[in-house]
Amino acid sequence: MKLEDIKTIAVLGAGTMGHGIAEIAALAGYRVKMRDISEELVKKGYDQISWSLKKLSEKGTISPHKADTTLKLITPLVDLKEAVSDADLVIEAVPEIMSLKLAIFKEIDTLSPPHAILASNTSSLSISELGRVTGRPDKVVGMHFFSPVVRMALVEVIKGEKTSEETMQIITELAKKLGKTPIRVEKDVRGFIVNRLLIGPYLFEAAWLVSRGEATIEEIDSRMKFYENLPMGPFELQDLTGIDVAHNIMKEAGFAIPPLIEQAVKDGRLGRKTGRGFYNYRDGGAQYSREAGQKFDPLPLYALMVNEAAWLIENKVSTAEQIDLACQLGLNFPEGLLRRADKIGLDKLVAELDRLYAKHKDPRYKVNTLLKQMVQAGKTGAAAGEGFYQYHKEQREYQTIRVEIDKKTHVAYVTLNRPQRLNAINSEMRKELPKVFSELRDDPDVRVIVLRGEGGKAFSAGADITEFTQGKPYQFVELGEFFRTPELCPKPVIAAIDGFALGGGLELALACDFRLASKRSEVGQPEIHLGLIPGGGGTQRLLRLVGPARAKELCMLGERISAEQAAQWGLIDRVYENETFEQEVKAFAEKLASRAPVAVRFLKQIMNAGADCSLDAALLLEREAFAVLFTTEDMLEGVNAFLSKKKPEFQGR
Ligand code: NAD
Repeated sequence: MKLEDIKTIAVLGAGTMGHGIAEIAALAGYRVKMRDISEELVKKGYDQISWSLKKLSEKGTISPHKADTTLKLITPLVDLKEAVSDADLVIEAVPEIMSLKLAIFKEIDTLSPPHAILASNTSSLSISELGRVTGRPDKVVGMHFFSPVVRMALVEVIKGEKTSEETMQIITELAKKLGKTPIRVEKDVRGFIVNRLLIGPYLFEAAWLVSRGEATIEEIDSRMKFYENLPMGPFELQDLTGIDVAHNIMKEAGFAIPPLIEQAVKDGRLGRKTGRGFYNYRDGGAQYSREAGQKFDPLPLYALMVNEAAWLIENKVSTAEQIDLACQLGLNFPEGLLRRADKIGLDKLVAELDRLYAKHKDPRYKVNTLLKQMVQAGKTGAAAGEGFYQYHKEQREYQTIRVEIDKKTHVAYVTLNRPQRLNAINSEMRKELPKVFSELRDDPDVRVIVLRGEGGKAFSAGADITEFTQGKPYQFVELGEFFRTPELCPKPVIAAIDGFALGGGLELALACDFRLASKRSEVGQPEIHLGLIPGGGGTQRLLRLVGPARAKELCMLGERISAEQAAQWGLIDRVYENETFEQEVKAFAEKLASRAPVAVRFLKQIMNAGADCSLDAALLLEREAFAVLFTTEDMLEGVNAFLSKKKPEFQGR
């Protein structure tokens, strides 16, 4: 089955969730059959949809005509057979009672067409178990919407033990068609992602803190609202959703209930719906104050949630990015939970869990293995450069160039990024490249620069000939300066040639300190075919590199030579296999970047200068540089490391 094969959707239950699901399905153009157990209930749901559509059209979100046609797509009914017999997809949204859901799945399996997908909107029950009572467990899936359905963007798509990849993909795509953001939940675990993070580690833990007298409701709610930037605190949130809802889920799953919650349920204080919960809604509702917020440290709440999230990652239920997206959309966490964790520092969170465990000996405070391993490996978050995310890689985009800086290895990759024109050098690139190099020169995180081309075909095919007819002679004189950019940079520059390096492209590579090439590469100075000569240093640099005869051959004949030929001539330093080229360049650059940075910079300068002056002058330059290096910390580090037989860690100072 394909997404396009879904035309009719049956929604079972016209309650809070059911009527919302029916509404968005009809808004997306599907024929919808909405079923509840009595005329009255189904009419109630239908009236709510009609009211909601009217609101949407009053606000101008949809036209009055669209509101009309949408409502007409929905058939309310009570007969189950009629509801599902021609459905391509059934979405069940009946009360959260397993025996009821099992009976319904068994029945709809016999009443609906064999190709139909059967989805459940359950928040906490097992999709695998629902699948097992049908003859099509591969077509049984979780489709967990959030309330209010029309407004909340998130849908968790849950894979049961037997759910097929095809079913997962169709439902994921369908969720997008309904205007939602689907998050795949790869395993049918209790609470899926959002409720698993929300209920135990957050709502309940907050209640434990209050029950143990370690904080007050007002302090916790105020902290989360004013300082952690959530729309409301955990207690007001429970009042809104109903204290009994989370209570029942946790009780069913066999968890201990914090006395604070137990008492509220016993007293019938279930939240807004009863007028009282943790707050009294007949008397002003939630209490917040900035001062109260300052008294509470949310570390234990973050520690528990992150511990749980690490469990989800470790068990391949989801990924850090997806969990954060789910937290942003489902829980309103401004930056996502794990980005926040990386900022706090995973070592701090682990220490907090250890402290809680030592004090309470409760297994829920045991540090998850993945989290422990991350901390042991030094991946403690943003400050360390890596946690749930990597922070040591920075990327900058220019119009014609892309720059990636790996702060860990200190290598910057500068990619000429006009693959559609074989990275030809145009006026924009001529402006941008010197700017990029001047930034990298001053960047303390960068020790080595790799210059390369995008697209796998060329380093650069030369100057952009389409611009040749413009410009005055004096401008071309100045243009030549541009090609000195890599040479004038004090840090070593590697030209990574994978494909063509022709004309100005080769000249740019010639101004680099090293030229590494893949086997398939070809280089040449074809200007002669345009009635020109190389104008960016080609004639002179080639002369010095390969000698007069070969340099003249390259410039006068204008023919391309292979990378291997160029390597024999001394024009290319190393040739690598095409497949391993990228890794070899990386390894070369990283090795170079591990050497004492100040000394490397001196080497570049005195060796470049020495090529063009007398031996006496050049030797003096060398002696001076040698003497100056004795004042550097790098020299001390190098000597100490040598004496203690360790690897030196140079700082470039
Ligand atoms: P609800 O009580 O508002 O609605 C359930 C409806 O199902 C009722 O109208 C009931 O009459 C009807 N129903 C009962 N048996 C039926 C049957 N055999 N066929 C058709 N309809 C039947 O409940 P709800 O809040 O809409 O929750 C429905 C499901 O969605 C539950 O599994 C719940 O866990 C889940 N859910 C709820 C929320 C939420 O915030 N309310 C969020 C996500 C998921």
